[in-house]
Amino acid sequence: MRIDVLTIFPEYLAPLRAALLGKAIERGLLDLTVHDLRDWTHDVHRSVDDSPYGGGPGMVMKPQVWGEALDEVCAGEVPPRLVVPSPAGRPFTQETARQYATESRLVFACGRYEGIDQRVIDDAARRMPVDEVSIGDYVLVGGEVAVMVMVEAVARLLPGVLGNPASAEQDSFSDGLLEGPSYTRPEVWRELAVPEVLRSGNHAAIARWRRDRALERTFHRRPDLLATLPDQALDRHDRAV
Ligand code: SAM
Repeated sequence: MRIDVLTIFPEYLAPLRAALLGKAIERGLLDLTVHDLRDWTHDVHRSVDDSPYGGGPGMVMKPQVWGEALDEVCAGEVPPRLVVPSPAGRPFTQETARQYATESRLVFACGRYEGIDQRVIDDAARRMPVDEVSIGDYVLVGGEVAVMVMVEAVARLLPGVLGNPASAEQDSFSDGLLEGPSYTRPEVWRELAVPEVLRSGNHAAIARWRRDRALERTFHRRPDLLATLPDQALDRHDRAV
């Protein structure tokens, strides 16, 4: 997969080259390029923002700079999917990550200040699929952290990136539930013991126990997830929990 990120703070994205994603880049599973938006400015101050029409606080990112940058970065036979982080966007979920992981090219446009002139998004949408997406109901200073969140969520789903692909299949949200608790050695730590069933070697009992804990945790922490589960996602035992 190829990912391009446009930002006025390219250094902010450096952590994407560390750890698991860094290895994915080294192994050619992910092709990541971070561009400095200011490379497409033409004035001596390399300015990317201007005051908002209609008045109000803050500044808005200029359409000319973004337009030229996107024309160049999004060029190619097959247009990429353009992802514009915004608190006013549609929620980014594990399902969004799954869909993005099937794309061959993604371009992320990091806004700053009060955001990007809307015409940039409207113009791009005439040539390519564009999503304005939010990573949560709070407001960040800029799009860079939101892009790191999304790139990490997408990249770990790419074939070959995770050492054991089964771990992504068992993660929270994969079956619509939160994952239950996990334990490792020692068996007893600070007088707290690992649940006996996990040490029993009885795979069916372990699977049932894990499913029950996932149901309980989801019920207490995210009842909204349970409410949207399709009927057939719950079996007879689940309903008894
Ligand atoms: N005026 C905008 C609003 O109220 O919707 C907020 C702009 S915010 C200060 C600046 C930039 O941070 C946005 O353009 C976006 O790129 C990013 N951002 C902030 N919160 C975000 C969130 N929850 N999800 C995704 N991106 C976010």
